[in-house]
Amino acid sequence: MLFDIGHGMAKCSVPEQLSMKYGMATENQQQVVSVTDRILGAQVWYNAERGRKPQSFTQEPALADPTDGGRTCDFCRWHTLTAVDVFGRIERPHAVSASNLFKYCQPFHGLVLFRHHHPLQFSLPQLSDLLLVAQEWFDRAADAQPSARHPFFLWNCGARAGASQFHGHAQVALSQIPFPGSEALAAVAQRYASALPGADYYGDLIRAHRAAGLLHEHALGDRRAWCYASLVPTKDMELVVQGASLGCPCFQALLHAALRTLIDQLGVATFNVGIFNIRCGQGPGAQSSLRTDEFNAAGDLMPGAAEAPIMNSGADSPILTRVVSRGKLSSRASDYGGLEVFGKASIGNTDPYRVFAALQSQLQLC
Ligand SMILES: [Zn+2]
Repeated sequence: MLFDIGHGMAKCSVPEQLSMKYGMATENQQQVVSVTDRILGAQVWYNAERGRKPQSFTQEPALADPTDGGRTCDFCRWHTLTAVDVFGRIERPHAVSASNLFKYCQPFHGLVLFRHHHPLQFSLPQLSDLLLVAQEWFDRAADAQPSARHPFFLWNCGARAGASQFHGHAQVALSQIPFPGSEALAAVAQRYASALPGADYYGDLIRAHRAAGLLHEHALGDRRAWCYASLVPTKDMELVVQGASLGCPCFQALLHAALRTLIDQLGVATFNVGIFNIRCGQGPGAQSSLRTDEFNAAGDLMPGAAEAPIMNSGADSPILTRVVSRGKLSSRASDYGGLEVFGKASIGNTDPYRVFAALQSQLQLC
């Protein structure tokens, strides 16, 4: 229902010299597997042979710090070298907010900074504060301008992922107009429920990945959150985390595990995070986050929960976070080519079952 899976052999003849250079058979056959997300329209192609593909462009495999270990980092001096939003600065022990000095979004575009410098070294308490500062930023921004109803959280780590600063930081935006990715997700969830009465899109995503053996469910008391290795990763090693809210400790623990899996188990040093279905605003008729008791064990909303007032499209849905690797620092070749830019498909470099095994290894350490 959600996914189409296909496979077939792709054949070619390989000249003797080329065959010897890369150890490939002369009468060459390669099995290619495709997974298509029928709901969102995404598509991924897998071929294990691509692991042999030569990389002509290489550079030092380290995340370069241009700030001399923080000595010239503006974000380490956030008191004096970052801007402040009109509704003030939010400060917690491990993270603080700032206003983005170079905005691409109006009326509000902010930053959430770790208090420490290195972007790959963060603990669960530090990540928890990053998320809690972000939630309060969304609430304050929505109250400051209730006509802005569309929140988005993104985190670019490393230059390959789009970051312009080394220091670990996320971006928070509250827009007058919807972000197309958020709007598309909300629209397919609504269409899915309309087409299949009684069906729940987010619950079925969990069930499909559980059936594929790619899902981990995390429980703390009556709270639940879920993490799965996506069958249709938009970029390499995609892990998805679903939960009740940014403030839910269960969600925070799984997002931390997902990020540490990429960094510590799989050697990722550059990644993107995007969070969908954030609720915001503390004003009349608004609600900052769903309570976890509004979900049943499968991640479905319990009857009546969706009747609560909402601030933005998709706000009656669980939080959905997508995390992807942005490739190897040892490769100067971009992981975005024409297939992604125009074809709206991508290449699945890492088997999702390997990503899930790494997640399970990480969870054993927690
Ligand atoms: Zn710094």
